[in-house]
Amino acid sequence: MKQWIESLLALQKVDMRIINLHLRLKMIPAEIKKLEEKKSNTETNLSETKSSMQKTGLDIKHAESVIAEINTKIEQLQQQSSLIKKNTEYKAMLSQIETQKEKISEQETIMLTLFDKDEENKEKYKEITKEFEAEKSEISEEIAELNELSSEVNAEIQQLIDSRPPLEARVDSAVLTQYKRLIKAKKAPLAKINSTGICSNCHLKITPQTMTETKKEAVVYCDNCSCLLYLEK
Ligand SMILES: [Zn+2]
Repeated sequence: MKQWIESLLALQKVDMRIINLHLRLKMIPAEIKKLEEKKSNTETNLSETKSSMQKTGLDIKHAESVIAEINTKIEQLQQQSSLIKKNTEYKAMLSQIETQKEKISEQETIMLTLFDKDEENKEKYKEITKEFEAEKSEISEEIAELNELSSEVNAEIQQLIDSRPPLEARVDSAVLTQYKRLIKAKKAPLAKINSTGICSNCHLKITPQTMTETKKEAVVYCDNCSCLLYLEK
């Protein structure tokens, strides 16, 4: 194999690795963001459950004070009723007491619902707290790993970039210019030609004349996709 092909293949290996590493690097910020969002969603869920828990607590206290007020009122009505002489007035008073007792019953039904809700909230809060604690350290670890990966990838890219000049120096400048033009499309600039004359990049058949040139290992381009061609051995 002629030296220009060997050198360009070595350069292409380096450049394709750099391209892939850049792609990997590009994905990292979104991966970190996703992890941070997951953590913040759990945090929001936790604080919403806490607020709901506090609100239910206040609602229970309110219902309790309403019941206490009504009980005081009933006591007052009962005291007043003992002083009443007229039967009709006494009956009216009893009816008022009955109405107040119904109100208590309503409040008690409300309280039962609130107790259920309180129970539910407490259970949910416990669960989310557990989930959050486990998730917190796990996510921090994953983010640290991604940051570490990012520095490793950057270091490797730098090493690869540093290894390029000696490889470039071995290639004719006109060929190198064409190579650089092709690599800008972020795909391999060199394509293999098999014995039947099919280009490994575009999968189309090259002309017999191009095939003859390729066999001579001359600098030649695919008729269809303009890749630099070399013969598969
Ligand atoms: Zn081609």
